[in-house]
Amino acid sequence: MKNNCVFCAIAAGEIPSFKVYEDDEFLAYLDINPFSEGHILVIPKEHYENLLDVDEEVLKKLIVRVKKIARRATTALDADGFNILQNNGEAAGQTVKHIHFHIVPRKNGERLVFENTSGDMEKLKALAERLKF
Ligand code: 5GP
Ligand code: ZN
Repeated sequence: MKNNCVFCAIAAGEIPSFKVYEDDEFLAYLDINPFSEGHILVIPKEHYENLLDVDEEVLKKLIVRVKKIARRATTALDADGFNILQNNGEAAGQTVKHIHFHIVPRKNGERLVFENTSGDMEKLKALAERLKF
């Protein structure tokens, strides 16, 4: 596995994912253990470990993709808002050392603890179909 990195493997298509967006440089897919319905991860296909490490031109393009995908998710899921999370370092809860932004759609009145839940593969598959663009 390139860079011994699970997200590089997803970007290379070596590990399957429920994709919602892809272009030459970036990829977005559903988090397999979501915090909420429609929890999406957005990554550059190139490997950078974290926010301090990422090339600035790549970062600029990445955040524009995050915005575009968040808009799509909000519309498709009829969400009332969303959180953007981006963890750097183990101390901050980063478990995959390939920079990623989390998009966590939110509904009014929904209580949420930012903890991973066990994803239902059938539901994730159906959700990815709704979100894909
Ligand atoms: P971090 O804690 O590093 O900010 O977030 C890593 C996220 O990646 C977690 O929410 C975890 O559920 C997700 N994740 C880990 N491995 C995989 C995988 O193989 N596929 C997908 N779709 N998500 C993954
Ligand atoms: Zn990687």
